[in-house]
Formats: sequence, C-alpha cells, structure tokens
Amino acid sequence: MLKIKCPKCNTDGNFSLAEPSYEGPYKCWKCRELFTIEIRNNELRSLKPLSQEEFEKQQEIEALKAKFKQS
Ligand SMILES: [Zn+2]
Repeated sequence: MLKIKCPKCNTDGNFSLAEPSYEGPYKCWKCRELFTIEIRNNELRSLKPLSQEEFEKQQEIEALKAKFKQS
C-alpha cells in the first residue's frame, strides 16, 4: 500500500499496487481530481494532472488490455 498525497487538496490517499511499478491514472477520493502517476519500486516518481478526456482514453486502453487477456 502506497500513500499518495493529492497536490490539490493535500489529502493522503491509499493506492494498492499489484506490482512494484505502475504508470497510469489515479483519482483523489476526496476532491475527485485526476492525475497520472508513475511508480517505480514502490516509490512515487511523478504525479501529473490529467484531464477527464485523457482519463477516459486511458480507461479505454485498460479495458482493451483486459479484453486481450481474456481471449
Ligand atoms: Zn484531492
């Protein structure tokens, strides 16, 4: 479990990792702001603001990946 501090509202959020590295969308549970986060070896390396449009695009990519895994 990794703690991620939202730069907008300064709220700590818990982010559970399946793998030590992750790059993708993160949503603050409190202010619902969207970010792209990059985690390497359980350490937060970068956190960038993400637009709703980009977020949806990333969600679509994730959904597609899940589909490919099933078949
Ligand atoms: Zn927030």
